Amino acid sequence: MANHDFNRPCDCRDCREWPKHIECPICKEIHVVVIDRSAVWTTDKHGFTGVDFNDPVGPDKPISCECGHSIEGVGYYSRYDKEATINTRAYQAERAAASKCAVCDSLEGIDRVKGFFEMTKLTMKDGVQLCQKCLSDRVQLETPDPSDEKNKYIFNRKLLSWELDKVKDPCIRCGKSRWLKANNRWKSLCTTCFKTGT
Ligand SMILES: [Zn+2]
Ligand SMILES: [Zn+2]
Ligand SMILES: [Zn+2]
Ligand SMILES: [Zn+2]
Repeated sequence: MANHDFNRPCDCRDCREWPKHIECPICKEIHVVVIDRSAVWTTDKHGFTGVDFNDPVGPDKPISCECGHSIEGVGYYSRYDKEATINTRAYQAERAAASKCAVCDSLEGIDRVKGFFEMTKLTMKDGVQLCQKCLSDRVQLETPDPSDEKNKYIFNRKLLSWELDKVKDPCIRCGKSRWLKANNRWKSLCTTCFKTGT
């Protein structure tokens, strides 16, 4: 395992190499070049060691794009990363082809939905595709909260429905009403009566 796996300064190849994405101004395709920086170990005044990276210096290296255009102004780089170029383009194509949520632009099967810890899945609602979160927001907004002075409901964002959360039941001994979690309804005595017993 490299130092960076423990969040420590590191001068391994993964840390030194810095990928740079260059877009061809003509055909808009992406090229990935790698800048292999030199690592210099440092010690600060508190005695902590770190790594400084210096960019390599060299002449401008144009990229000849497959569309025939020669991309100038790229600067110096260590090498052209063919594999990363292919992967980046494939990823972009996948994103471009994916369906997205009409509200938050989350991509189906690619992005994760905020607060749901799962991949975006789209559902058609009133003619638009919505991710789990935006669907839930909308259904909650459209469904009236059935809560009243004796029942409190909370919206279940996964099941898309209001669920009974708390109920206000009277204690069978003193008659005083108190809020109970819905699944604690069996508790017939209030805390005070329960503690005093009899
Ligand atoms: Zn490293
Ligand atoms: Zn091009
Ligand atoms: Zn959404
Ligand atoms: Zn009581």
